[in-house]
Amino acid sequence: MKIAKVRTHLLDHRLEVAFESASMRFDRRVHVLVEIECDDGTVGWGECLGPARPNAAVVATYAQWLVGQDPLETEKIWATLYNALRDQGQRGLTITALSGIDMALWDIKGKRFGVPVSVLLGGRFRESVRAYATGSFKRDGVDRVEDNAAEMAGHRAAGFHACKVKIGFGVEEDLRVIAAVRDAIGPDMRLMIDANHGYDAIEAVRVGQRAAEFGIDWFEEPVVPEQLAAYREVRARQPIPVAGGETWHTRWGHREPIETRAVDIIQPDLAGCGGFTEARRIADLAALHGVRVVPHVWGTAVHIAAALQFMAAMVPSPVRNSPIEPVLEFDRTHNPFRQAIVQVPIDHVDGVVSIPDGPGLGIEINRDALREFAPKED
Ligand SMILES: [Mg+2]
Repeated sequence: MKIAKVRTHLLDHRLEVAFESASMRFDRRVHVLVEIECDDGTVGWGECLGPARPNAAVVATYAQWLVGQDPLETEKIWATLYNALRDQGQRGLTITALSGIDMALWDIKGKRFGVPVSVLLGGRFRESVRAYATGSFKRDGVDRVEDNAAEMAGHRAAGFHACKVKIGFGVEEDLRVIAAVRDAIGPDMRLMIDANHGYDAIEAVRVGQRAAEFGIDWFEEPVVPEQLAAYREVRARQPIPVAGGETWHTRWGHREPIETRAVDIIQPDLAGCGGFTEARRIADLAALHGVRVVPHVWGTAVHIAAALQFMAAMVPSPVRNSPIEPVLEFDRTHNPFRQAIVQVPIDHVDGVVSIPDGPGLGIEINRDALREFAPKED
């Protein structure tokens, strides 16, 4: 079994209503899938986090070292690709592109042996996970406080036990959003806040100190990812547990935040940190240091399926009769191709998502949808 072809598929949809996080504006949804085809016809799928076209260009660059290789040799291929661009590529698009490739190779490996990736990773500790709803971006043309509160009340009504709101736009308005959302969802639903690194340490400490009374589970990306001393300062000077990791890459990128306890919760992304091969190392490093792992997810059903396979195999922690269960990040913002690209959508029932048990990622791609959402002039 050899790798015969490496392709990428761009997916593109122009949003009817644009929205913003603290650090990014979304006028369109654009994602990229990786398809690796073997000489026996087996096909594996992956997805890359971040800008789709630059990711596709890096995947195309990696293809020269992939064709002709044995797709089952995931460790060897990871090292080959990483070393090929290592000197200028220890983080960033080189790693997000490598993540999509690694994901596709594990999909192939699962299909080759007829088992889900979670079994290859060591076994399924769970068949489902609770999901938390991510949304509440700043949408054009609406009052953010009312809009976020109404949206989160809707997620509660849909059965979610937890939700995450976007902050980082300004201290006072953010605190009004947090108060309104807590009021709208009631006292029992779990609530997280995500600043998308929109604050400096002084602002983040101020927000954390004042938001704590609203019962916040974690404070995600308070400051820019390069400033680990600022992360540690935020963690030390306000009471909410600090989370981060979606923009840290590889075991080396996660090592210092974990070892120096810059975060209480580390959030590696299967489509960004280096794929399954690297995410398991990061999870081991986190376990070694007693840091909780909650994977970050922002993508299509391919990305969600990968996160689910990884979460199925996460070793229960701490060791007790009812350990803390991992929670799945479930993006609720508008994206018409998120589930359309698979034959069986990955959906939640009362906030719980079943983990596919088919071979590989456990999904089948709908090629009609790939064609429908391919970029067009508009
Ligand atoms: Mg985030």
